[in-house]
Amino acid sequence: MTDFSHFNFAHTRALIRVDFNVPLDDRFEITDDTRIRAAIPTIKKILKDGGMVILMSHLGRPKDGPTNKYSLKHLVNHLNALLGTQTLFADDCIGAQALEMAKALKPGQVLLLENLRFYKEEEKGDKEFAKKLAALGDVYINDAFGTAHRAHASTAVIADFFPADKKMFGLLMENEVKSAEKVLKNAEKPFTAIMGGAKVSDKILLIENLLEKADHIIIGGGMAYTFFKAQGGEIGNSLVEEDRLQTALELLEKAKAKKVAIHLPVDSIIADKFDANAQTKICKNGQTPAGWMGLDIGPEAIKAFREVILGSRTILWNGPMGVFEMEKFQQGTRAVAEAIAEATQRGAYSLIGGGDSVAAINQFGYADKVSYVSTGGGAMLEFFEGKELPGIAAIKK
Ligand code: AMP
Repeated sequence: MTDFSHFNFAHTRALIRVDFNVPLDDRFEITDDTRIRAAIPTIKKILKDGGMVILMSHLGRPKDGPTNKYSLKHLVNHLNALLGTQTLFADDCIGAQALEMAKALKPGQVLLLENLRFYKEEEKGDKEFAKKLAALGDVYINDAFGTAHRAHASTAVIADFFPADKKMFGLLMENEVKSAEKVLKNAEKPFTAIMGGAKVSDKILLIENLLEKADHIIIGGGMAYTFFKAQGGEIGNSLVEEDRLQTALELLEKAKAKKVAIHLPVDSIIADKFDANAQTKICKNGQTPAGWMGLDIGPEAIKAFREVILGSRTILWNGPMGVFEMEKFQQGTRAVAEAIAEATQRGAYSLIGGGDSVAAINQFGYADKVSYVSTGGGAMLEFFEGKELPGIAAIKK
C-alpha cells in the first residue's frame, strides 16, 4: 500500500470506494449526510492536487437490479453543494459509458457512478466485475470503512488489480484504522471498554476478545439483565436472553481468571412498562419486582462507572446504557458520555464505535469532546472482535 497524504494525484484518475449509503426520505432528500461529509477531505485533497475523482458506492439493498429508489443520482445535488463543484453522473457503474466518462475527465472533475449493488456481482465479490471497475481508475482508494468488513468486489477484490504503490486508504479509512489500532493494539493502561445495548448475543465475541486486552469492562444496557438473571437475581420483565445465561456466567468466569474487572450496574431505573410515560423508580439490581423492567442504569451505577471511566487512559464505548431514545431513560447514557468527555479532557484516548453510542454522543453534544467517533458500526465491531477486515487486508497485502 502507499500513503495517501504523500501521493501527488496530479493528472491521476483516482477511483474511490466511498460509503455513501445514506438514509433518504420519501422525496429522496438525505436525512443524515454524515457519511458523505466524512469522505469530503479525501476527495478535496485529490482535486487540489489536480487529479480526477471517480466515486463508487452502494446505496441500500436493491434486490432486482436498477431501481430508482436506490439510485445514487439522488445524491448529486448534495454532493455538488458540499464540494462546490458540478459532479458528473454515470447511469451505470461499469460498461462503455462509464469508461468513456472516466477517460474524458479533466483535472478537478468528479464522476459519481451508479449504485454498485445494481449488480449482484458486487456482493458476491466477482472478479470479472471487479476488473471492469478497476479499469476506470489509475489508482484505487478505499475510504469506505463502513463496508470494510465485507469482501465485496469494490471493497476488497478490486485491490488485486492494482500494484501496491497504486492502492491506498483514504483519509477517513486511515483515521478509522489508526484509532482502532491505537485502542486494540497500543492501548495505554488502564484500558476500559464500555459495553451496552440490547443483546448479549451481539456482543459475545467482542467481550471475549476484549477480555484479552482490557483492564475494566463496564456492562450496561439491556444486556446487563441476562448477567443478573444468570447469577440468580430477580429481573422482572427486563430484557433477557434465556439461551445466553450460561454464556454470561462463562464470561464472568473468564474475566475472573484473566483478572479483568467486570462492572455491572449496581442499580437501575425500573419502569412499569416500556413507555416514555411509564412510572419509574430506582431499584437495586437483582431485586426487580415482578411486572417491572430495568430501562436505564441507576444513580449508584452512574457514580461507580464514572469513577472507573475517569481513572482510565484508554476508553472504548459501544452501546447505550439504557433506552436513551426516551427522556426518562437517558440519564445513564448521558452520564457515561459526559464522563468519557471529561476523561478525554484529562488526557485519556477515547473511541466511540457502534451505531447507537455514536447517535447518543451526537445527541448529547459530546462528539467533539472525545478523541474519535467511528463511522463504521459493523466494521468497528468486527475489528474489535479481532477479525481481519477484508477491506483493510486487501489494501495492506
Ligand atoms: P444495540 O443495537 O444492541 O447496541 O442496542 C441499542 C438499543 O438497545 C437501543 O435502541 C436501546 O434503546 C436499547 N436498550 C438499551 N438498554 C435497554 C434496556 N435496559 N432495555 C431495553 N432496551 C434497551
